[in-house]
Amino acid sequence: MPQIIDGKAISAQIKEELKEKVSRMKQDGRTVCLAVIQAGNDPASSVYVANKKKACAYIGIESVSYELPEEVTQEELLALIAELNARKDVDGILVQLPVPEHIDEDAVIRAIDPKKDVDGFHPASVGALCIGQPGFVSCTPAGIIELLRRSGIEIEGKECVVIGRSNIVGKPMAILLLRENGTVTVTHSRTRNLKEVTKRADILIAAVGKPKMITREYVKEGAVVIDVGIHRNENNKLCGDVDFEDVAPVSSAITPVPGGVGPMTIAMLMHNCVESAALNL
Ligand code: NDP
Repeated sequence: MPQIIDGKAISAQIKEELKEKVSRMKQDGRTVCLAVIQAGNDPASSVYVANKKKACAYIGIESVSYELPEEVTQEELLALIAELNARKDVDGILVQLPVPEHIDEDAVIRAIDPKKDVDGFHPASVGALCIGQPGFVSCTPAGIIELLRRSGIEIEGKECVVIGRSNIVGKPMAILLLRENGTVTVTHSRTRNLKEVTKRADILIAAVGKPKMITREYVKEGAVVIDVGIHRNENNKLCGDVDFEDVAPVSSAITPVPGGVGPMTIAMLMHNCVESAALNL
């Protein structure tokens, strides 16, 4: 039987640690505050925003939220970000993506002060990550490194294959694995003989965005398999990019969906907020 990597338990542990840290900071007169901006009322975004606010409340992080109408202009949104950048009491700024179509997402990301960029999407944060300097790291890949670390899975020297090269998951994931001294291959939709490449992996990260695409044919016996995907199947049940039932028996460790990578993303967002407040001392 493979080790089931329990993201729910590990994220709960991280949240407890953060709660204690925030409480100690409060005793020293320091508060932590996250500003959350949602433009429009995409139902999935509303759920994500509500979950983030709930996690803040649990840990003791204050959250200020801005629910802007779908018709908000780019200028208005950028003006709000500028105001929050200038506020000393705000440690982190999060703009829930996607933004409405008439708004330039890159301009929004670039407007956030890198010191408050708790999502880690600003080009300065990404650049810092690439050259090994301090900065915020995109929460999902950072959460995966934490999952591996806290599950006792060593990365150093391992063949790591990432399926997917998006800016928020695949690329930062590859750089983080490299930082941990893994030997890293990044694959994508133009990769030839994908199965041959993924079968080399000691650690396989699936961030492909295709429900249950990764079957045991893609996986080496004994590999560690991390499933980033989140989808709803025909019965409205959550599933990942990996066909869990098929792959689990050949893997040495695997993340389930739900309860694997998903809960780690919010835990790392909270971690970044607390770090931001601590660094601004
Ligand atoms: P994107 O759609 O932005 O990227 C998907 C990547 O997979 C692309 O690089 C694409 O290649 C590659 N790809 C697509 N089809 C194939 C194929 N047949 N063979 C090989 N590679 C392929 O997705 P994201 O990175 O944003 O997200 C990936 C998954 O993770 C999604 O299911 C998403 O819902 C989930 N997710 C989960 C999070 C969590 O908290 N657990 C957070 C963020 C995302 P190319 O670049 O060539 O197009």
